Order: sequence, then C-alpha cells, then structure tokens
Amino acid sequence: MDCERRGVGVDRFEDTGDKRHKAAPMLGPDRFAPRLHAVPHEELEAAGIRGLIVDLDNTLLGFRETELAQEHLTWVAAALERGFRIVMLSNNFSERVNGLAAQLNVPCIPNALKPLPFGFLRAKRHLGLRRREIAVVGDQLFTDVLGGKLCGHYTILTEPIEHKDFAITRCLRFFERLVLRGRR
Ligand SMILES: [Mg+2]
Repeated sequence: MDCERRGVGVDRFEDTGDKRHKAAPMLGPDRFAPRLHAVPHEELEAAGIRGLIVDLDNTLLGFRETELAQEHLTWVAAALERGFRIVMLSNNFSERVNGLAAQLNVPCIPNALKPLPFGFLRAKRHLGLRRREIAVVGDQLFTDVLGGKLCGHYTILTEPIEHKDFAITRCLRFFERLVLRGRR
C-alpha cells in the first residue's frame, strides 16, 4: 500500500535525497524519506552503506496493522539480494517482533532500549560492518536517529506510518516538531 493510500501527508515530508556530505547535527537525520522503500538501493550503495538497522513499529508497520506492506517485503528482499545486511532493532518486546523479522528474513533484536547504545552495538556486531557503513532507519528522532547518531551511523528519518502514538511517543513527537521545524 503506498503512502497516499494510507492517507499520510507525504507531501509534507519531502524526499530530500542524500545529505551525507553535509554535517548533520546530533538531532538531525542525514536524510528524510517518506518510507524505507522510497530510498533507492543504489543511493545507499553510492553513499558507502552496506548494512541497515531498521526499526519496526511505525517504520515498517503501523500499530494497527498485522501484515507488512508488499513494498517493504519487496524492498528488503531486493536489498538482501544485492548484498545488504539488515537487522531489525525494536524497543518492542512482543513475539510479534520475531515473527515479522522472520517474514523479512532478517535477524531481530527486541527490547533494544533505544536510544541507548547497547542494542545498536549488538546490531553492529550482527552486521559485521564499520559504523559508517551502516544506516539506521526509523520514524523517531529521539530513539532511532539519536541512537544511530550516538553510535556514528548514517541516519534516515521516515514518516510515521500512523500518527496514533503511545502517550510517551506523543510527548516526544512534540519535541521532534520543535527540533525539526523548517528542516523537513
Ligand atoms: Mg518506531
């Protein structure tokens, strides 16, 4: 299902392309993208990225969804085919996380406690790559992007699939909007 069909305001969240060569501040992603599947594999390869640490909730799957979008299944399968290494890193701890990672054919680290670095360090060991060869992809500035930046990775902030969040996330979204004002 594409972004428009989900009713997400993708026009507000413009695909800005690769910002790797501009120094992004600690609370600024290197790149914005409406969805992971909107990022061309070729672009990542050209930027020297060989591995991905990917968030699950609201990045690959909305809270009310039970099935991964075909676009994400296809994108991940094609990425693995091209030689990318991928790990799913989630703060969620449910059985559902493992099942969805298995559908994507990637390993999964649940209970990650992002933005703390422990989960990211485990994911990096899984990938067996250098920190600048890894892109962190997620929908939250204060967990995915901040954690990725703290570990020295390239970071991609995606538009949340659903705008319904847990209370704590709603609070963080308020600060996200302040930090990102005028930068999307
Ligand atoms: Mg998320």
